[in-house]
Amino acid sequence: MGFLKQLDVENFKSWRGKQTIGPFKRFNCIIGTNGSGKSNVMDALGFVMGERAVNLRVKHTRDLIHGAHIGKPSSTFASVSMIYCGDNNEEMIFSRRISGDSSEYRVNGKQVTLAKYTGELEKIGIVVKAKNCLVYQGAVESIAMMNAKERTKMFERISSSGELSAEYDAKLAALQKA
Ligand code: ATP
Ligand code: MG
Repeated sequence: MGFLKQLDVENFKSWRGKQTIGPFKRFNCIIGTNGSGKSNVMDALGFVMGERAVNLRVKHTRDLIHGAHIGKPSSTFASVSMIYCGDNNEEMIFSRRISGDSSEYRVNGKQVTLAKYTGELEKIGIVVKAKNCLVYQGAVESIAMMNAKERTKMFERISSSGELSAEYDAKLAALQKA
């Protein structure tokens, strides 16, 4: 299985100018005092995976630009690039850049549509919509509070097995009838 090797951020949330986060290992732990920016690392990761602003703790995409949270954006744009290292050590670079509220996506430097970008992420097992890759602060508690049915539904969504549940139920019903 591949892993996240590095994040390069520019004017994103608490990072002013260009900064590199990483290189990461296969297992990483981020520690820091309250408000030091730990969750912003998750937000940067969610952002580069194409998450919507509301899932990144802001109302509008433009609010993600450094300084925008206090009404003083330090730039007109922000960007995050993620270096993904695959099974055979081959690297892929996913990048998202925002200018105001509009986003531009690139895979290995080539500009692509969001659909193509999401498709390339899915090829390496990242399905942002299914929430199979990011568990934000607060989500751990809500997962722990779920009942068995809700938790089953969540795993069905993450694994995509939910797509087969109608077929499974039909086959089970047919077997029970026979
Ligand atoms: P906690 O331990 O409380 O969960 P944390 O380490 O996860 O804290 P974050 O929520 O990642 O902290 O970071 C909060 C910091 O990010 C605040 O200091 C806030 O001012 C800063 N911040 C958020 N948005 C922006 C922005 N657009 N520009 C500059 N700084 C920002
Ligand atoms: Mg936090």
